[in-house]
Amino acid sequence: MKAVRYWSANNARWLRRVYQSLETVLVALHPLLKRLGYQRLDRSFAAIEKVVKGFLFDSQSCGQCTLGETGMACPMNCPKTLRNGPCGGVRSNGHCEVDPDMVCVWVTSWEGSKLVGDLESTIQVIQAPVDVRLKGTSAWLRAVRKRLGLVSGDGL
Ligand code: SF4
Repeated sequence: MKAVRYWSANNARWLRRVYQSLETVLVALHPLLKRLGYQRLDRSFAAIEKVVKGFLFDSQSCGQCTLGETGMACPMNCPKTLRNGPCGGVRSNGHCEVDPDMVCVWVTSWEGSKLVGDLESTIQVIQAPVDVRLKGTSAWLRAVRKRLGLVSGDGL
């Protein structure tokens, strides 16, 4: 829902803190997660993420979450799925050229990033191209393994 999505970007500062805390907790739980098996847990985590992130961010479950670096705005809601800034077709009122009823994802992202305040380690980070093979997998579990150097790619 767009209204909730915009609300999330307008509350990006504390929502990002919640995200960072969640990542810290999950990293601390790595020995347990490893014992239970990341592969086995993936489907359950992905289902939880789909509900929570789907509601708050209209997450498209790409499996390589950038929310922490894009002002808590999901770039996969851009009709062109651009992950490194706007296409240049943004309307003068800040809306999307493809969907005039939607504020450009990157306008929303910029507003959220300004609230977070740490532009160099957030929106200025170059995101890797999306890997469609990861769609529907758990971005949270992937972020834990990335933080521990067990996989490469995007974060939580
Ligand atoms: S205007 Fe923004 S949301 Fe729309 S296609 Fe371009 S970058 Fe994506």
